[in-house]
Amino acid sequence: MKLAVLTSGGDSAGMNAVVRAVVKAGILKGCETWIVREGYEGLVRGNADAEAPSSPELETILDVEIRDPSFIKNLRFGDGGLLRDGTGDNSGGRSLKGRYIVRVGWDDVRGWFAEGGTLIGTARSQAFRTPEGRLIAAYNLIKEGIDALAVCGGDGSLTGADLFRSEWPTLIQTLRSQDRITDEQVARHGHLRIVGLVGSIDNDMSMTDLTIGAPTAMHRICEAIDNIHSTAISHSRAFVLEVMGRHCGWLTLMGGVSSGADFIFIPERPPKADPWEDEMCQIITRHRAIGKRKTIVIVAEGAHDANLKPIRADYVKDVLTDRLGLDTRVTTLGHIQRGGRPCAWDRIWPTLQGLDAVDALLEATPDTPSYMIGMQENRVRRVPLVQAVKMTKDVAEAIKNRDFDKAMSLRDPEFRESLEGFIATSTLEGNPLLPPEKRIRVGIMHTGAPAGGMNAATRAAVRYCIRQGHKPLAISNGFKGLLDDNVYELSWLGVDNWTVRGGSELGTNRTLPDIDLGAVASKFQEHHIQALLVIGGFEAFHSVLILHEGRKYYPSFHIPMVHIPATISNNVPMTELSLGSDTSLNALVEACDSIKQSASASRNRVFVVETQGGMCGYIATMGALAVGASIVYTPEVGINLDILRDDVKWLKTRYGLDERGKSEGRVVIRNEKASNIYTTEVITKIFKEEGAPLFDARSASLGHTLQGGIPSPLDRTYGVRFALKSMAFIERHHEALRGLKFKARHAGPESAAVITLQSSTVKWVPVGEMVAHADMKNRRGKEQWWGGYKELVEKLVARPQLL
Ligand code: ADP
Repeated sequence: MKLAVLTSGGDSAGMNAVVRAVVKAGILKGCETWIVREGYEGLVRGNADAEAPSSPELETILDVEIRDPSFIKNLRFGDGGLLRDGTGDNSGGRSLKGRYIVRVGWDDVRGWFAEGGTLIGTARSQAFRTPEGRLIAAYNLIKEGIDALAVCGGDGSLTGADLFRSEWPTLIQTLRSQDRITDEQVARHGHLRIVGLVGSIDNDMSMTDLTIGAPTAMHRICEAIDNIHSTAISHSRAFVLEVMGRHCGWLTLMGGVSSGADFIFIPERPPKADPWEDEMCQIITRHRAIGKRKTIVIVAEGAHDANLKPIRADYVKDVLTDRLGLDTRVTTLGHIQRGGRPCAWDRIWPTLQGLDAVDALLEATPDTPSYMIGMQENRVRRVPLVQAVKMTKDVAEAIKNRDFDKAMSLRDPEFRESLEGFIATSTLEGNPLLPPEKRIRVGIMHTGAPAGGMNAATRAAVRYCIRQGHKPLAISNGFKGLLDDNVYELSWLGVDNWTVRGGSELGTNRTLPDIDLGAVASKFQEHHIQALLVIGGFEAFHSVLILHEGRKYYPSFHIPMVHIPATISNNVPMTELSLGSDTSLNALVEACDSIKQSASASRNRVFVVETQGGMCGYIATMGALAVGASIVYTPEVGINLDILRDDVKWLKTRYGLDERGKSEGRVVIRNEKASNIYTTEVITKIFKEEGAPLFDARSASLGHTLQGGIPSPLDRTYGVRFALKSMAFIERHHEALRGLKFKARHAGPESAAVITLQSSTVKWVPVGEMVAHADMKNRRGKEQWWGGYKELVEKLVARPQLL
């Protein structure tokens, strides 16, 4: 198969990761790989010269045998640098001028996914919208012998792709009748294989949970709002922010949840109150009355009222200024949202989607539908492209028809939950929602090491408690703090800025309750704690387990108890995600990008980067996938002499294949506990000694920097989601115990549980049941969903082909 990839429509972060993955996967599957510059426009323009490019001679100093010599043919065609510098031209005489369909090899796309936008260019093509344009596009593809096309773009681009495929037989016939192609070409190109990948910052495509570029856009939005926070508070100002999203309020909603905005406007759910200005002003006045010094309102680009009258940021500003007398400024984030370094998620998922896209192309037959590669429940999934595009258009149609309930129902359940979550955590109610007899005292505690999102989760729980009428009690400094009576009530305003704060606002330590279980029980009684929320890592799970087992002796533990996993190691069993692991992954990616840059500048340096993670290789493995590391060492697999011998051989082989004078800097990621003997220092020395003169080695230890500074948007939004679900769980289980005498209370085993994420679905696992899935000695789960990704890291550096 000869396969080409193009990016079309609006650019988004992660498009380069798609191109890189499609090219790499194509080569690994024995395909010839091409890129099309400037989207469909490049297809229409084609190549001025029909000459097929050939791989330049490889000047290698290899003295080792390569397992798959045919791989070398696809190593590079020399145009990677030209594509990368964005000009398509260079002073060295080589040029891409007049060439829009370009053969590329493995090394031409290396390191691409650290860059934002799309390096192969994108354009809006009027020509491709016409049958004549598509006829020329078909001719240009056939001329180069290409029979498969991967398109990364929004719903317009994917509509175009599907149309192109459905017209293909007619286009072929026309080209034959015009004598522009031969019978042989007709026979060979009877069917065009097409696959779509969704590149869109708005997250506006149906049938996929997350579009490529949306997570990075969220990072940009949160960074902008975080920066505005300080100036807003300093001047006691109001800010109205306009974010992108014509028919989709996802960016606005998630921005609101993760920044703690006061009010948001999204197209799918316009304000119900009429006039909405009154409602907005009432809420903001209430917030100001208790002493809030900043006001943030976020308006989606496509926001409107219930009669479809657009709501513009400038108008909102006027309302806030005129009615409330607030010093109000408007900030339109605009194209800032598109740009910048892709976040970890926008490297990992587009890579996995790109790999699947190639499989979908290889499996395509004239009878199978064109697929769109999307994400569902944290996994890559294929869905029929036409159906997804139609459903997306249905949302816009429903909004146009003012059927907002339908528009909301076409969004995924998480969207609806997030909207409810936003309201519950952002709006101060006048009176508590629950009657006095249902109100309880909820103890909130952090345990273990700090992790991003802990504070966001605590804030959400506190706000929910206050809304309902419960009393949120901070238990500062874990179980030690409890024994020291470090217990106090938290207020609505007091937690206002906690979403953006890293570390642990409550203070945390690793002490388990069995330090003095009897004393812990009496403190529960003394402070009249009726429910417990513990946010933390493996220790938090262990603590709740100890309290659950202690119920045999101590009635005060017969209360609902919840553990929200929060640890950068992501080592809590049975959950795919712990709060803090995304922040940490992004800190790792950022550090490795800089390290890789330094290593590349020195031309031939290998950096052995040590990460935290305890006995769990999650951060190391996912980090390796997100930065394109050459090798990853995890505690699960360990390190021995045979492994190291192979690794040295592999590095030598790879450096031997680099263009002379243009060696890449390479990164090796080693989890701190991968081996007691083969430490980072030892491995670095071995690489240095064995690698000379081909390559040199250095080490870097990331240590506590991995806890990250400001929590990532994903950790904040999940923090809110987990906290609200946990509070609902607590209320449910408290109901069964309500009114019972202290000694008569019996909380069942299901009332002490961990909130887990399994295939994107929130599931409650009682701590008693979780023990069977936990490796208590190594403090990690027995099964790990990411276990196979180490192999993927090796696949993406072609290790099986070269070694
Ligand atoms: P997006 O893909 O981000 O939704 P557009 O709607 O602008 O962006 O589409 C990008 C390109 O895809 C267009 O410039 C055009 O070349 C092509 N395209 C879009 N819709 C169609 C269509 N109905 N028929 C043919 N080509 C289309």
